[in-house]
Amino acid sequence: MAKRVPFVCGNWKMHHGVEATRKQVRALVEGLARVQGKVEVAVAPVATTLFAACEAARGSGLKIAAQNVHWAEKGAFTGEWSAAHLVELGVSHAICGHSERRAMFGDDDVTVPKRVRAALDAGLIPIACVGETLAEREGNQTAVVVARQTGAILELIKADEVERLVLAYEPVWAIGTGKNATPTQAQEVHAQIRALLAKRYGAKAEAVRLQYGGSVKPDNAAELMREHDVDGALVGGAALEAASLLAIAEGGMQRA
Ligand code: PEP
Repeated sequence: MAKRVPFVCGNWKMHHGVEATRKQVRALVEGLARVQGKVEVAVAPVATTLFAACEAARGSGLKIAAQNVHWAEKGAFTGEWSAAHLVELGVSHAICGHSERRAMFGDDDVTVPKRVRAALDAGLIPIACVGETLAEREGNQTAVVVARQTGAILELIKADEVERLVLAYEPVWAIGTGKNATPTQAQEVHAQIRALLAKRYGAKAEAVRLQYGGSVKPDNAAELMREHDVDGALVGGAALEAASLLAIAEGGMQRA
């Protein structure tokens, strides 16, 4: 088994206000000892609660992620925030190109790589999302779509920084549907992504963590993360409660 520390990140999407965020972050911090040193855990709260989340997580091993980041340092971009703004708060990770942003807010193979680039430049860890729709899977286009989205991101990443990248394979048909990819389906795509990385970066590809996302729950997390190239999970619905996210993180301990 490759020596990659499993990485589980909760994505709270547009849930939890400040008080609920504080409560859940404190519960995560309290429970973190169960996986500390074996599985890395992060959570991505709503932007308006990031300050409170960072405050509640300070000094613990819990990482706070943003759900998005703009590529510019500053300027006339109403409704956006820069990587520097996130760093200032104590945020360490940024999700880039989540499928909901690709589907509803115009993110694409031009803007997602720019977000990843800005995150890296500011010292953040980007969690870059790729994945096919149901129609694309049924049309046997999974490999083509994942290669295109991944290739666009890697185009802007140099060999000496690729180990900081986290890639999340999130088949769109599995997100929020309760229908997860099987471990075999996930591993197949993760192996393809690993091969794309290896082609560009050689042995450094082995250090890049590949998360699976799409209806991960406490009862399927361990079997998914038992796969050789499934190095963690990006979790939506089942991450809203700290106890559930921690149970998922424990699923990653079997590969540690
Ligand atoms: C997600 O939003 O990234 C996600 C994977 O959601 P869910 O776990 O609810 O499918």
